[in-house]
Amino acid sequence: MRYLVFSDIHGNLEALEAVLKDARKKRIDHYLFLGDLVGYGASPNEVIQQVQALAHLSLVRGNHDKAVAGLDSIQTFNPIAAAGIEWTRKSLNKRYLHFLASLAKSPLIVHDNITICHGAPFDEDYYIFGEFDAAEAFGYISTPVCFFGHTHFPFVYVEREEMVEGTFIEKFPAEIKLEKGARYLINPGSVGQPRDRDPRAAYAVYDSKNNRLKFNRVEYNIAESQRKILATDLPAALAERLSLGI
Ligand code: ZN
Repeated sequence: MRYLVFSDIHGNLEALEAVLKDARKKRIDHYLFLGDLVGYGASPNEVIQQVQALAHLSLVRGNHDKAVAGLDSIQTFNPIAAAGIEWTRKSLNKRYLHFLASLAKSPLIVHDNITICHGAPFDEDYYIFGEFDAAEAFGYISTPVCFFGHTHFPFVYVEREEMVEGTFIEKFPAEIKLEKGARYLINPGSVGQPRDRDPRAAYAVYDSKNNRLKFNRVEYNIAESQRKILATDLPAALAERLSLGI
């Protein structure tokens, strides 16, 4: 099976469309989405509509999805993120609010013995930043591969004989061969709000047959996403950061 692994779209339709267009050339069998459909960007309805339309899809909710759906308070969010959540809540169609509220909580085990989660397998809101966090996360995973999102940084952690090693992915495309006997925690990066100073949309393709994973980046129409944000009363900083990738 070939999986498209993607995360953290955050209401950015132009970035999502660029990823899905690129993915269509790669014969994808199944889509794995790791949470945060909305929050920050100006096209939450269109993003949910496009993701819902994917025929073979497994997904979990993100912290922004949960807050927009009213399942969590916005007090843990910084003022800009909180403004994005409030704007999204009042802009979303009712049926999409219900859809967000119905999303599965992490972790979820899907086809081919893969775990997906938003933050960490032990806490959907936790940020895995570094080998110490990753080592703890491996303790909660029963599958050889776990995909996670939330940090917006493309990263791979590998566990071999109880030693954990993390690698930040900086050059694209980057391909890794998953070794038998090792375990992996992999973040594909963010579709709609990269924070690694590379403004291109990020995603990964995992081929479970030959055990290869490829990290990709794709250009998208950033100016159009920014124009849409500036046409709303969302904070202008949410538009500015897109061209910087922060
Ligand atoms: Zn996010």
